[in-house]
Amino acid sequence: MQESISALAAEVAAADVSSAAALDQFRLLYLGRKGRLADLFDQLKTVPGEQKRAVGQQLNGLKQQAQARFDEAQAALESASANQPADATFDYTLPTVPQALGTRHPLSLVREQMLRIFARIGFAVAEGPEIEDDWHNFTALNFPENHPARDMQDTFFVEPALGGDAGPDPQPFLLRTHTSTVQVRIMENEPLPIRRVMPGRVYRNEAISARAHMLFHQIEGLYIDENVSFADLKQTLYYFVRELFGEDINIRFRPSYFPFTEPSAEIDITCLICKGAGCNICKGTGWVEIGGSGMVDPAVLENCGIDSQKYSGYAWGMGIERITMLKYQIKDLRLFTENDVRFLRQFEAL
Ligand SMILES: [Zn+2]
Repeated sequence: MQESISALAAEVAAADVSSAAALDQFRLLYLGRKGRLADLFDQLKTVPGEQKRAVGQQLNGLKQQAQARFDEAQAALESASANQPADATFDYTLPTVPQALGTRHPLSLVREQMLRIFARIGFAVAEGPEIEDDWHNFTALNFPENHPARDMQDTFFVEPALGGDAGPDPQPFLLRTHTSTVQVRIMENEPLPIRRVMPGRVYRNEAISARAHMLFHQIEGLYIDENVSFADLKQTLYYFVRELFGEDINIRFRPSYFPFTEPSAEIDITCLICKGAGCNICKGTGWVEIGGSGMVDPAVLENCGIDSQKYSGYAWGMGIERITMLKYQIKDLRLFTENDVRFLRQFEAL
């Protein structure tokens, strides 16, 4: 027994532990439950009683020696691999890991596309404040004193405050309900002729559902010069819808009423789903509405200091959400603001 222990101790001391594979072999051979050391422990029961204690101590010593050798070799291997220069095995020809950049929001895509189309025929972008006064949002645009849009039910009013551009009377501010406020600011401040498009965020006091939201985006257009006619308006919008939706899309104007235009017309285009044949989306008519338009009411021109005898103009407005829903066949408005990446990922990559 003594000899077996000494022989094994010499073997343990001399064993090769210079590589990970050799070290694994060492562990199985000497430290494993079926290893050589375990064999000797098994034989301990055959040792006569008076020697058991001494032999047992020797075996434990050997076990500690083997474990120490293993621990030391393992630490040495680990530190060797950690100290290896990082690029020792680095392949510089490997392709890089692509960085995920996300995608553009569908409303941004459509907004920019619309602005580009109008830029090509000379419409420059104008923007204005989202918090407005009654004058720019209603009065200048010919909204009568008792118009329902002035009601708390439809408009978010900001705490009544002194001031505003309308004069010394205290009046409430509000979150603009349309981008027509920017039209008023331009007509008041810019030299004629005017040819502008006005994108922006607007607010209405609405319950949020698949078809309505308290926050959405509009693009309006305004053209004022001498001898501007309804035919100019029709041609401009006809050009726009064919640029945006394709050559086979037609346009029609439906008589309507807005306080700030006279005459006024809703703008319909050929239903993109059925191409005019009639379907659920267009309720069988073959047409879908995309916005409103008209000739700027002479009273609005005068409100803004423009001579309505000399000048005339047209204006139109469209919801960016509406256009985007038609273009991509999106059925729920809420998707635009919920930031679900499964939805957002489907649009053009950055
Ligand atoms: Zn249809």
